[in-house]
Amino acid sequence: MPAAGPLSCRRCGTCCRKGGPALHEEDRVLVEEGGIALGDLFTVRRGEWVREPERPGLVQLAAEIIKVKGLDAGWTCRLYDGDSRSCRIYDRRPHECRLLDCRNPGPLRAAYSRGRLARADLLAAAPHFRDLVCDHERICDLKTAWRLLEAGDGASVRQLAEMARYDAELRTLLVGRGGLDARLLDFLFGRPVEMVLRLFRRRLALGPHAVEEASAEGEAP
Ligand code: SF4
Repeated sequence: MPAAGPLSCRRCGTCCRKGGPALHEEDRVLVEEGGIALGDLFTVRRGEWVREPERPGLVQLAAEIIKVKGLDAGWTCRLYDGDSRSCRIYDRRPHECRLLDCRNPGPLRAAYSRGRLARADLLAAAPHFRDLVCDHERICDLKTAWRLLEAGDGASVRQLAEMARYDAELRTLLVGRGGLDARLLDFLFGRPVEMVLRLFRRRLALGPHAVEEASAEGEAP
């Protein structure tokens, strides 16, 4: 939601219902001070297919993005209050939300890819989680997963199944035995590998750059 005021914003909420913002360096303090909880974030991992402004079709992410999750398995930003049609953290809203003006998309487009936060930026004080994230990223690398899906041979299929199994077991173990808050999983490890593989299969069937899907990210976390 852009700056308040009848001339600049009608508070229709359309932008907030299209999905939460990606976070940038300017938002680091907001997260560190608890203005947005890590459990309200999810990671779109390197290798996932996303829509980028000014580019046709979808592109495979070269570097991860941290985004605010949707509400109730939908894409409406979970910090949006539908009753009051306002942002719950309006005075401290993220960088992208401050730049967004639906009648003048230029400033947001210009800043969209600059200074994006990554998990490592937000886990500086939690090296044990950082190590876990690195291991998971290495074992469940999504660029590799895409190549394996494209190959489609028996060995590739087995490797993909092993990747999905590792991801699912790690999540179960951390929550069940480690006492991890389950709301942190999509931030720490992105959406479940099984879900991402389902999206990849759909993307492979459509063609990597087709734009038929309503959302580049497919299924809300
Ligand atoms: S953080 Fe606030 S302004 Fe930004 S999309 Fe969410 S509800 Fe809207």
